[in-house]
Amino acid sequence: MTQRPPITAAHSGLRSELVRSSNLSTVLRALHARGPLSRSQLGTLTGLTRSAVGALVTELVRLDLVVEEGSAVGGGRGRPSAMASPAADRNVVIAVQINVDSIVAAAVGLGGTIHSSQRMNRPRRRIGVEPTVADVAALCQQLITGLAMACTVHGVGVGVVGLVRRADNVVIVAPNLGWHDVPLGDLLHRALGGSLPVLVANDADLSALAEMHRGAAIGASEVVSVWGEVGVGGGIVTRGELITGAAGLAGEVGHLPVNPEGSQCGCGSTGCWETEIGATALLRRAGLDPDAGAAAVDGLLLRAEAGDATALAALDAEARWIGIGVAGLISVLNPAIVVLGGLFGRIFAHTTVVIHQEIERRSLPAARAGVRIVPAALGADAPLLGAAELAFERVIADPKSVGR
Ligand SMILES: [Zn+2]
Repeated sequence: MTQRPPITAAHSGLRSELVRSSNLSTVLRALHARGPLSRSQLGTLTGLTRSAVGALVTELVRLDLVVEEGSAVGGGRGRPSAMASPAADRNVVIAVQINVDSIVAAAVGLGGTIHSSQRMNRPRRRIGVEPTVADVAALCQQLITGLAMACTVHGVGVGVVGLVRRADNVVIVAPNLGWHDVPLGDLLHRALGGSLPVLVANDADLSALAEMHRGAAIGASEVVSVWGEVGVGGGIVTRGELITGAAGLAGEVGHLPVNPEGSQCGCGSTGCWETEIGATALLRRAGLDPDAGAAAVDGLLLRAEAGDATALAALDAEARWIGIGVAGLISVLNPAIVVLGGLFGRIFAHTTVVIHQEIERRSLPAARAGVRIVPAALGADAPLLGAAELAFERVIADPKSVGR
């Protein structure tokens, strides 16, 4: 039997330092997720004592990660208690979303505030790796240049429409971009001068995380998120965590085979769900150029709102195929909530009735009982906010790593 070494002063010092570091992270995470909180609210949320919360907030203020406003001392009757908030103006990450037809980048403050953003619509000829890295780096530099001098950029988080190996930030395959084994994290890290950490993840996974932390699925632990523009991705959360699968590739709902007679998919198969429900299919059914991009979809929605029969029929067909796939996901995964984001969030009002009809017809009654189908609350910002979470994680997990 192994005997435990005695707890020496050095050991207990190390242990209390670890506990303190973990508590510092707990308090910063609460402020990042919920915004301004008083010390007593922080105590209730974290289970820490009032004096421990006080010392931790003071330390976070010293690290320039938190600001505290109002009366911090006294606590006499009628005196407002101090509110601690994340120092959003001084701690920023750059969040990037790489879509097939656009790149969006934003400077996001601690606490999830979007300070500024840039969108670049791009023609199909600019979706190669080299021009994409150049475009993303240029957008990031513009945003960084626009920040105040006193602001620290902690890193860059990137969401991409493709399969991503998180361990080394490599895009394994992005069928709609024509990418294979692209070391996107390394390429961007170098293009940005080699000092900022760059983390890359699948955009749909990031949307699911953002919706769970800040959006339509707050508090839910069994969530299916389907997010689409041209490609369609998904994030499947069970017991509060994204499922990864054996190689980190789980959640690729866009490649569910739904139509054996369907059209060719970018993945090499035919009749995948994304060939029936992405922006390309919607535009094709409306008789428009399938590659015309986001602006053409916006035009189609305006026509639908004006009662245009062709536009409405295209949306009904889209809704039917969305419902077919969602019905299958409900029967397999029994989620509490299904979040529809991106294009599917923007067309939600036009599609919800038909989607529910298909779910009623095609899913297991017990599995669909109680499930809620909701549009993403964060709208087009979901992958960006998820990318920001990715880039902030290191600072939140270890606030002292800012080295102030
Ligand atoms: Zn496919």
